[in-house]
Amino acid sequence: MVCIYCGNSTYVTNSREQRRHGHVWRRRACKHCGAIFTTVESADLSLSLSITRPDGSIEPFSRDTLFMSLVQALGHRSDAIDAASALAATVIAHLLKTRPGASIEVAAIRSVAYNTLQRFDRVAAISYAAYHKA
Ligand SMILES: [Zn+2]
Repeated sequence: MVCIYCGNSTYVTNSREQRRHGHVWRRRACKHCGAIFTTVESADLSLSLSITRPDGSIEPFSRDTLFMSLVQALGHRSDAIDAASALAATVIAHLLKTRPGASIEVAAIRSVAYNTLQRFDRVAAISYAAYHKA
């Protein structure tokens, strides 16, 4: 990767795999201008997963949409953001494992999200189900 400031080549000074969140964090330094910046590498889920809407239309999967729905359900917890991030990774891993290459119905994603929440926090699962009832 080239330097975001001057465009010259960079080298990695530190690298950390964040298994729980499914991405790799890298600290990079520029040989030319000395700038230091961070990159995060993760799978492009919008290209890897797609969802089928009830009207039959297909659109790219959005981790952000899933994440926000989980944050909302976990709103009563002080660790809602961290928990939602970890649970989103769990839901996505499950979808990638069980439905490789397939377009997934919204209802199926909600079902996986609900089951994942229920194992973690029953109150959050009830909140999620109430909000997402069609
Ligand atoms: Zn530079």
